[in-house]
Amino acid sequence: MSELLVNSQHGHLSASQRVPAMARPFVSERAMKTLDLVEKFVEEECIPADDVYTRQIGETTAERFASHPQIIEDLKVKARKLGLWNMFLPKNHFKEGAGFSNLEYGLMAEYLGKSRVASEATNCAAPDTGNMEVIAKYGSDDQKKRWLQPLLEGKIRSAFLMTEPQVASSDATNIEMTIKRDGDSYVLNGSKWWSSGIGDPRCEIYIVLGKTAPNDPNKYAQQSVILVPHNTPGITVHRMLSVFGYDDAPHGHGHVTFQNVRVPASNMVLGEGKGFEIIQGRLGPGRIHHAMRSIGQAEKALEWMLARLNDDRKQPFGEMLHKHGIMLERVARSRIEIDAARLAVLNAAITIDESNAKGALKEIAEVKVLVPAMNLTVIDRAIQAYGGGGVSQDTPLANMYAQGRTMRIVDGPDEVHLLQLGKNENKRGKAHLERIDAQIAKGKALCREYGIEPKDRLHLDRKSGEVSKL
Ligand SMILES: Cc1cc2nc3c(=O)[nH]c(=O)nc-3n(C[C@H](O)[C@H](O)[C@H](O)COP(=O)(O)OP(=O)(O)OC[C@H]3O[C@@H](n4cnc5c(N)ncnc54)[C@H](O)[C@@H]3O)c2cc1C
Repeated sequence: MSELLVNSQHGHLSASQRVPAMARPFVSERAMKTLDLVEKFVEEECIPADDVYTRQIGETTAERFASHPQIIEDLKVKARKLGLWNMFLPKNHFKEGAGFSNLEYGLMAEYLGKSRVASEATNCAAPDTGNMEVIAKYGSDDQKKRWLQPLLEGKIRSAFLMTEPQVASSDATNIEMTIKRDGDSYVLNGSKWWSSGIGDPRCEIYIVLGKTAPNDPNKYAQQSVILVPHNTPGITVHRMLSVFGYDDAPHGHGHVTFQNVRVPASNMVLGEGKGFEIIQGRLGPGRIHHAMRSIGQAEKALEWMLARLNDDRKQPFGEMLHKHGIMLERVARSRIEIDAARLAVLNAAITIDESNAKGALKEIAEVKVLVPAMNLTVIDRAIQAYGGGGVSQDTPLANMYAQGRTMRIVDGPDEVHLLQLGKNENKRGKAHLERIDAQIAKGKALCREYGIEPKDRLHLDRKSGEVSKL
């Protein structure tokens, strides 16, 4: 048994053995085997490679956003040999993927989330995953040939440009980027920011949301999605945005402007006015991919916490940290919260598998809110166990916290999902009121049938100075 895989006092309990009972009937034998391969690949190859990757990115801003770490290409070769490639494309919706369901991929993505390089090494990294789904689902044959094929082969990368600095972009109807038809072309003007992945020199295609019909009375028919090659004249990547000080190079998050950016009319995806439909379709599975990876992050944080609790080189007040009861309570709570959140994520995946992202809006929104909060709580406990080291570069925890915190904002902030969930739940309110009233009325009628006066047991009807007559 490799010491890089050991995870219990008895040696190793494999990923397939740890699949929750609820999920097991939905997981094929092939997926179980692949899951174990993913775990082994991540623990033995990817996590040790994380540091090499970080070093190969370089030092200066110019270097970092021009880098293409060799280790990622070496890992891709290993991953492909193992058959770990494009597992994210669900089998019942796409023929191009590795033939797994959302649930099966969900179990695998948990392990991918434990390493910085694992998702890209297996061609399962955001935002390419969501972008590939968009082109596979809505793209023309030509668009698929030109852009989907190299993305599926991991030869190029992509970015999704929706958010704009000057408007509240969590409401996509506010988007201002203009896309105007001009002969055989469309011309784009406007600004974008938080364009993730745009820093990477291999990022060759941008999927851009803008407005083709800003004055359409139907505010959901104003938007369109169009494909813009990275080298089209008129695009300026002004700067990269940091996340709590991390630059996330070479991928990064760009602040970009488009000035008279002209692309062929054939780059329009699905047709003018279909932008809303496309972004809704894109965000479904992508949102749970983040949630699945976050479960892995939380597991990793707990593993680091357990390691610190059992490190006899550092004993505050003469005791190992695990002897301090409060720490074990935090471990137990973390175990409960991770396991509960995992079930919610797997349930969302099963619901998507049984219908599609639209049929699982409730379950997706639930995990979109639940999982980042759980992840941050667990990472925070692990950071605390490490004291000063926990917020430094000596553990991965500080970086994981920064990444994890963004998950409460990306793909729509918590509030939007909570509001939607709350509104939908509230639709049942009137029906519940009527049912509860009807049950009370029936209870009273039943009392009468049994010769009982339907009145409150604590009823007194006592007036001042009198003894109750009841
Ligand atoms: C690390 C990172 C990566 C990202 N990657 C991408 C990317 O690749 N492509 C892309 O297009 N975008 C990306 N984004 C942008 C992200 O999707 C947006 O930041 C997000 O949708 C919120 O939009 P906004 O920033 O314009 O905030 P606003 O819309 O201005 O909202 C600000 C705040 O208002 C509150 N709020 C919003 N709506 C409601 C409501 N209905 N009720 C109550 N409160 C509300 C929330 O607290 C919200 O955080 C990324 C962001 C981050 C941090």
